[in-house]
Amino acid sequence: MKKREAFAKLPSVDSILSNNNIKNLLDNYPRELILESIRDVIESKRQEIIRIKEDEIETFDIEEDILIDDIIQSTKNKFQLSIQKVINATGIVIHTNLGRSKLSPNVQSELIDIAFGYSNLEYNLENGKRGSRYDHLVQIIKRLTGAEDALIVNNNAAAVLLVLNTIAKDGEVIVSRGELVEVGGSFRISSIMELGSGKLVEVGSTNKTHIEDYKSGFSEETKAIMKVHTSNYRILGFTESVGIEELKQQEEFKNIPIIEDLGSGVFVDLSKYGLTYEPTVIDSLKKGVDIVTFSGDKMLGGPQAGIIVGKKEYIEKMKKNQLTRALRVDKMKIAALEATLRMYLDEEEAIRNIPTLKMITCSLKELDKKAGILLNKIKELNIDADIQKEKNVSQVGGGSMPLEKLDTYTVTIKPNKFSVSYLEKRLRKSDAHIIGRINEDKYILDVRTIEENEFDLIVKELKIIFN
Ligand SMILES: *Cc1c(COP(=O)(O)O)cnc(C)c1O
Repeated sequence: MKKREAFAKLPSVDSILSNNNIKNLLDNYPRELILESIRDVIESKRQEIIRIKEDEIETFDIEEDILIDDIIQSTKNKFQLSIQKVINATGIVIHTNLGRSKLSPNVQSELIDIAFGYSNLEYNLENGKRGSRYDHLVQIIKRLTGAEDALIVNNNAAAVLLVLNTIAKDGEVIVSRGELVEVGGSFRISSIMELGSGKLVEVGSTNKTHIEDYKSGFSEETKAIMKVHTSNYRILGFTESVGIEELKQQEEFKNIPIIEDLGSGVFVDLSKYGLTYEPTVIDSLKKGVDIVTFSGDKMLGGPQAGIIVGKKEYIEKMKKNQLTRALRVDKMKIAALEATLRMYLDEEEAIRNIPTLKMITCSLKELDKKAGILLNKIKELNIDADIQKEKNVSQVGGGSMPLEKLDTYTVTIKPNKFSVSYLEKRLRKSDAHIIGRINEDKYILDVRTIEENEFDLIVKELKIIFN
């Protein structure tokens, strides 16, 4: 056989379309995608013929069945959503790359009701007139934080932008050099602050900022003092920073609002659960901060959102800022956030039912038991690997509590016949998309972030990979 003959053997698009399996495919998938897959698969065969050596062409064959299977697989791949559910086996609870916080199953029905129906999003059911989408969340936030007023935007970066654009658009904002936080993806809070305000006046040094530094930064143009909680790093050793109370006491700053970006919004004093104390929103307001901003999907465990709480006079102004329209939240976010916040009315319920809090506060005993169950299930597979239960540490993640080392239990797998990186890749690309860690030559499944009802999926994928 010559190459010319091999090319001639390539089926035409029309002949493939007449195949029964392809006809069935047309019932369930868009024609355009199927046609594209047919052309792709034929083209890759053509390329194969071009590459093949003349003396190997004799054995070359086009197996129609395989071709059809490839087309079906390719169509399915094209039709699949790009965004996929994954199993987080990393032990990092607020994993920024894996979607940060998971919503509580308790909010599911509220979220679905609102998403799939009409709602009173901007309608006042009392008087039958137009209402405000922001009013839905104000009551619950006031109740939980003691704030005078609240406003919700798309995320915390948007909250910082809106606050400064409203309060300090044409003026100066004083901020300590020790608090110039960079969050993930090389975004700097200071850059966002610069976008919002006229000018950032950086004072003090990286490790030490004194009250005199703040005073030296003060001018006629000062519109606000910004405090940023260094949520994702700590400066240790020879350090000093100025507290809210001290700033509040200064005569110069009497009429200057103090804004605090808390990053991760915490409503519960986590030191009660054996963790390091993280400043809560309530504590910040008690100290006299005028405006506090924080995320909805970090420690709070709700949907992505930026929550602004504080003095009514400032929040009223923000509501009138045209930027608010550009940063506004949708009905699904409002529903998910209100339903999440409602759980905080009973702290115990919040800890029990909000996945982020539940995973962070999970006891070592509980994790030990959970790892034992997973270990047994994997051992029952009798795969060619060394499988162990091991103590390890997991992290809170999401730029929250950077120093906190959470003791945990993991199940480790060391394959005997292939590399651990091959195992990692196969699990990641499997239908269940299992994302774990590698440490030296072991694959690590941290049970802190794995649901027990996901164990069987992991076992199923391991079985496929090891057979
Ligand atoms: C995470 C973080 C932000 C950004 O919040 P997003 O909700 O991701 O926009 C801003 N400030 C601090 C201190 C943070 O930790």
